[in-house]
Amino acid sequence: MISTCGITTLARRDVVALPRYAPDITPCVVDVSDNVNLWGAPPAALRALTTTAMSASRYPSVYAAPLRDAVLRYLGLSDGQGIDVVSACGSDDVLDATMRAFGEPGDEIVFAAPTFAMIPTFARLNGLVPVAVPMTPDYEVDPQQLVDRRAKITYLCSPNNPTSTALSRATVEYVVHHAAGLVVIDEAYAEFAPESFVDLVTKVERLVVIRTFSKAFGLAGLRVGYGVGSTDVVEPIIRARGPYKVNALAEAAAIAALGEGGDGIGWVTAHAALAVENRARLAAALRRLGFEPAPAAGNFLFVPVARAQVIAQAMCRGGVLVRALSGLPQDIPALAATGGNALRIGVGPWDAMERVLDAFVEALACA
Ligand SMILES: *Cc1c(COP(=O)(O)O)cnc(C)c1O
Repeated sequence: MISTCGITTLARRDVVALPRYAPDITPCVVDVSDNVNLWGAPPAALRALTTTAMSASRYPSVYAAPLRDAVLRYLGLSDGQGIDVVSACGSDDVLDATMRAFGEPGDEIVFAAPTFAMIPTFARLNGLVPVAVPMTPDYEVDPQQLVDRRAKITYLCSPNNPTSTALSRATVEYVVHHAAGLVVIDEAYAEFAPESFVDLVTKVERLVVIRTFSKAFGLAGLRVGYGVGSTDVVEPIIRARGPYKVNALAEAAAIAALGEGGDGIGWVTAHAALAVENRARLAAALRRLGFEPAPAAGNFLFVPVARAQVIAQAMCRGGVLVRALSGLPQDIPALAATGGNALRIGVGPWDAMERVLDAFVEALACA
């Protein structure tokens, strides 16, 4: 019989070793700490929640086929191109299921650091070994270094979280054509970027592009994300994810957000355009203060700042919550200059950005 003294010894070691995700969630008047849509959600999606509420007692569609069809239309792809879509409980869930579907225990997943903080976590939970290679001094990734690792999975993130920088098409194409295994491109912020690489899924079999309804689409609370790729890549991810992962209300809201008109996709694109405009304005204001945000392609700015934690705490006292990052790799000269410290600031309505700037200036003076 298995001894039950010290029940945690029964849990998998990889799981016990992993702490919970614990971002700073101090309540602040202006919260620009997590890159969500600061204008809210598309009205059509909110209406869909009310009209679908009555179906709460029924199971949702097994594999979210209606959402799959709406996503294919949105991306300008169609059945018959050998393409399929997997959706899940946030793109986090798609990333997790992708690693489970393709990674045998001990396989490697390679990425350029710093990148999305959940990647090493999901890797370890699935028995994979996370391998970080440095970014180049100009926030690019060296495609040769990624490819040379010959990892089972190569993870690219463009625009990248936390740097907000986009990869060049040349880099992405080199990786998708030369990587030894599966290539994942995380495009959580595609709607704010000058270009998307989703077109590559019709040309390259080993690729899955992952997107979310949590950022531009304003539906972070509903947890919907998706991956698109060749049928042969998507099918194992669908199996690894399992049925019923997108709940009925979330599916209805996501489909409504993709729907034609100013309350659906029109709302999304209009507010993404505003975010891009305010991103440039905020970056210019920060440059006037003597800071150099990384060239941004997402709805947030990455600003190397010394003593980021102290500055963020002072800003919080001023009613503004930003994400403070420390211990970042210092291969990038701008980060070496700040001891690996930076702030990540979400971009939203301009009056909120003015609050951010005021709190930042005050924090610099006092902290
Ligand atoms: C926010 C984010 C996600 C997670 O999105 P969910 O769909 O809310 O799980 C995935 N990747 C990156 C790079 C992100 O910044």
